[in-house]
Order: sequence, then C-alpha cells, then structure tokens
Amino acid sequence: MTHERWMAKALQLAHLGLYSTSPNPRVGCVIVKDNQLIGQGWHQQAGGPHAEIHALRQAGDSARGATAYVTLEPCSHHGRTPPCADALIDAGIARVVGACGDANPQVAGQGYDKLRAAGIEVIENVLQGEARELNAGFLKRMARGLPWVRVKLASSLDGRTAMASGESQWITGAAARADVQNWRARSCAVITGVDSVLIDNPAMTVRPQDSHIEQDEHLWRQPLRVVVDSQQRLPLECRLLQQPGDVLWASTQAPLSTNREPKLGKLQQWQAPSLNGHVDLTALLKHLAQQGCNEVLVESGARLAGAFVNAGLVDELVLYQAPTLLGSQARPLLSLPFDHMQQQLRWHWHDVRQIGGDIRFILRPDNGPSI
Ligand SMILES: [Zn+2]
Repeated sequence: MTHERWMAKALQLAHLGLYSTSPNPRVGCVIVKDNQLIGQGWHQQAGGPHAEIHALRQAGDSARGATAYVTLEPCSHHGRTPPCADALIDAGIARVVGACGDANPQVAGQGYDKLRAAGIEVIENVLQGEARELNAGFLKRMARGLPWVRVKLASSLDGRTAMASGESQWITGAAARADVQNWRARSCAVITGVDSVLIDNPAMTVRPQDSHIEQDEHLWRQPLRVVVDSQQRLPLECRLLQQPGDVLWASTQAPLSTNREPKLGKLQQWQAPSLNGHVDLTALLKHLAQQGCNEVLVESGARLAGAFVNAGLVDELVLYQAPTLLGSQARPLLSLPFDHMQQQLRWHWHDVRQIGGDIRFILRPDNGPSI
C-alpha cells in the first residue's frame, strides 16, 4: 500500500479520539513492516499514552526496522508522558511518515529533527490537509492562542429564526438537532448568551443517547458551558446550572458570592475585560484557549452570534436551513446592522449536505486564515 493509504488508516484511528482527547490533539499511529500492519494506536485522553506508544506496544520487538505512520509530528518534550520521538528511536523504527507538523512551540520541528538525528528516515506532510482539518482547533490554539470558533445557526429558507414577537419553535427536524449534538460533543466549550438562557432556558449539555456518540464515558466529556452575561442577569435556578458539567459565567462585573454549583461540576465566575460595555469576546476566547479549549461552539441568539461574526472571530458557520418560509417580518439570523454593500462579509461553501429534511451548510470566511 502507498503512504497515503496507511496514513488514511492512521487518520481513521485518530478520529476515534474526536470527543475525548482535548486539550490534546487527536492522533493516530500505525506501524507497518513488509507491507503488514503490526501495530496501531490512538490517543484517547490527556494524561494517557500517546498514539505512538499504543502502537509500539502492540508491535513489540517487530517494530525494529518498521515504518511508523503518525498523523502529527511525534512529541519531543516531556509532557505528562515521556517523548514519543525517544520511544520510536528506542524501538528501532527505521522510517517515520508524518502527516503534519506540531504547532506546539515545545515540539514544532524538534520531533522530526530528533528522529533524523538518530538516523531515522522522515517523510513529512503525507495527507497534511486531512490531518490539519482534524486538529484545526489544537493547531490554531498553539499558533495563535485562540480556539477554533464555530457558530451554529438554524434558519428558515428565508434566513429567519423566529417571529418578530419572539414566538418561536423548532424550525429544523430531529435529525438536524441530533447532528448538533456531535458538534457540541467535539467542542471543548459551548458558548451562549444570557438572553438565550432567559428565553429558552437550555441545558446545553451533550446527550449521547440523542446522537452518534459512543456512550463509553472514556470516549467523550461534557464541554464547558459558557454564558456571556455582561450585567449578571443569569437566574441561578436556570437549567444550565442543574445539569452535569462545568459552567463559566463571564461578565464584566466582579464575581457574586453564590454557593450555587452545577451538578457534578463547578461554577467559575470570570470578570471579563469590557468592550463598549459588553464582555470583550476576543478576551473571552483567549481565556478559553488558556484553559485548553481547542474548539468552541457558539449556540446563541442573533445578537451574540452577530457580535462574534462582526468581530471577525468566526472560523466556521454551521447553518441548518429548513424548507419553510417565516416571512419578511420574522427575526433575522444574525444582528449585523450593515448599511453599505462594502460591509458585506463573504463566505465560501466548505461542505453542503442534506440532514433529514434540512440542508446543512458549513461555511468559512473568504478572508479567514487557511488551516
Ligand atoms: Zn507523544
């Protein structure tokens, strides 16, 4: 098989960690000798063995002279576990094929350098695009100190979300709502605004039974739920605080004394820098990145989602569109008070598919950074 075929196998393994590896990247590894697979592994959870270690253990002594395919440059530093570059060298691996370099400044190039210095042949950038997509959040956080920001939206065919009166109900079908669970589960944090809490009182948790997520508790975790609430209007009896998992309450005010804690989780209050009287969203994202958040999902009303978009902070829109018309008086998708054509924000289609009876668009900004 070609390098690409083996790397595709390693990427499949890396995908198994989609919901569980954060703050670490999703990484897979296969070890091949005489065109036979002799070891495979993937990183499951932070603190646990890296993909290479699982694969080397399986290969045992046969690893000597073999080729290792890794979806991310092997680590060269002592983190919570010893460096994988050393383990590959000690096992007598002859060749390492990597999909993408690690943007972590503690690794960046040094993993490959260490292997080369030990006489191992290194081939880089095999299926690099696929590998970078899988860890877009981790790579962005390492390179820029910001998480990958995805905004989830649902609208009618005419781009509306609710009646002008505020009257609303589910527009999209059950399949689209189940699909949202997968985006939520792969995210380190889910961000909403206090207005959504006051209107809809959402739980914002992952419900594996409603999605494709394996229910094994080692394979997923509840994302941090973040409420943007400049003026501390969050009602402490809200559902958000009655569900499992941690909650971050971001406001521009000093923390309030409260002994209200989420079920099986912690309530952290964070006093954010203020920007025009609101929580500074860039500062919020930096704060989340510092806490190890690779991917965040914004699930909010038109105002907060519009503010993220208008500030140029969004990497991806996930828009579910239902084949229904809510009419010209209904509420718009995003609050973006533009007056001139030159203010328009151009996006391009990254993926378009039907989910149940709705269409799901994934869009990326034309002027966004390339992955
Ligand atoms: Zn490692």
